Amino acid sequence: MIKASIITIGDELLIGQVIDTNSAWIAQQLNSIGIPVLRRVAVGDTWDEIWTALDEESKKVNVVFITGGLGPTADDITKPLLCKYFDGKMVLNEDALKNVTYLFEHIFKRPITERNIKQAEVPDSCKVIINKRGTASGMQFEKNGTLFFSLPGVPFEMMGMVEEDILPLLVSSFNLPKITHKTLVTYGIGESMLADLLQEFEENLPINIKLAYLPNHGIVRLRLTSTNLESDNIINEQFEILKNVVSEYLVTTEDEGMEQVIGKMLLSRNQTVGTAESCTGGYIAHLISSVPGASAYYEGSMVTYSYAAKEKSLQVKKSTLESQGAVSEDVVIEMANGLLKQLNTTYAIAVSGIMGPSGGMPEKPVGTVWIAVANEKKSIAKKFHFRFNRQKNIQLTAMNALNMLRCFINEQD
Ligand code: ATP
Repeated sequence: MIKASIITIGDELLIGQVIDTNSAWIAQQLNSIGIPVLRRVAVGDTWDEIWTALDEESKKVNVVFITGGLGPTADDITKPLLCKYFDGKMVLNEDALKNVTYLFEHIFKRPITERNIKQAEVPDSCKVIINKRGTASGMQFEKNGTLFFSLPGVPFEMMGMVEEDILPLLVSSFNLPKITHKTLVTYGIGESMLADLLQEFEENLPINIKLAYLPNHGIVRLRLTSTNLESDNIINEQFEILKNVVSEYLVTTEDEGMEQVIGKMLLSRNQTVGTAESCTGGYIAHLISSVPGASAYYEGSMVTYSYAAKEKSLQVKKSTLESQGAVSEDVVIEMANGLLKQLNTTYAIAVSGIMGPSGGMPEKPVGTVWIAVANEKKSIAKKFHFRFNRQKNIQLTAMNALNMLRCFINEQD
């Protein structure tokens, strides 16, 4: 079986300044084409560490991915090291130079410097993978039957090269197992309760099909993966059973987020939504508007943090704010109704809460959040108590607000 290892290079990874998202992303891509990842190793910009990692990983796998350390600065030692490791000498690569020159002339629109030209130098023992998004070329090497891909650390550059060049190359070079994934999304049930609910289903799964639980912010994605099954009939049958078992909690049978689900619901009904956000500071707006095509159903957001902003922009009554406080049922309902009037949307979402770490009171501790959803006929509000840090409380507030809208729309049908 073809197996891979991923080596990520950079001192910044070891001190936690940069989170290593590259290896997680590469691992996902490799798994999707049937190449399991045996190990992920992070090393600093240190000659011996990189050398040892190359030695050790290549003993165990057929494909080694390396990201980072290719830049033009002195701490980027990966390229000279690879040159030595693969017995080459540095040469100016014509294709890489053409690419770098093109980028400077047409995309960056800046004069090219000596340092930039040097970026087109690669070991003559590699095959260049052209980087259409940046100046550091990718490099492909082979040693003792193992393939090595060295890629820049910048995620956007690395991803382009993996998707456009490396994955197609791996698929055509190796006889990989056929992998099929089918994912559904549940909401409102924790991972352990789901595991109880699904115990019998899991025990009866055919040997070639595995179930994975992928929890995130109150959502649990359930993914079935079949390996080496000629047809998709068996996984489709199992997926139908899975759907029935979790039907009470089912959000969607696609691998998509809550913001995409509500986007589709609004689009198909020709309806619109707006958001009135206090404690989330625009995060719900960010989620909704990150879906391509959101302009067809998303009118906009009013981020009203202070009492004054709530009064001025959303006509929340001063008396309600003073008697109930901003984090209250009456205030979120007034916010939602004020927004409906201002933006003239079919639905409004409003949120107000205490995200922490400070600002809690005995009767309204940190994590207290009120969420309202309204249309012109009806408003509903719900109180939540989140018990996490500020960032997670914001994410959970947004996710619950979107879910409340989803349920509210379903009730209107
Ligand atoms: P370039 O020549 O384009 O700078 P490079 O190969 O030298 O590419 P690095 O200098 O190692 O890349 O990293 C560039 C940036 O890419 C870093 O500042 C960091 O933000 C990001 N980066 C590097 N490695 C990773 C990683 N493993 N996961 C996520 N981001 C990373």
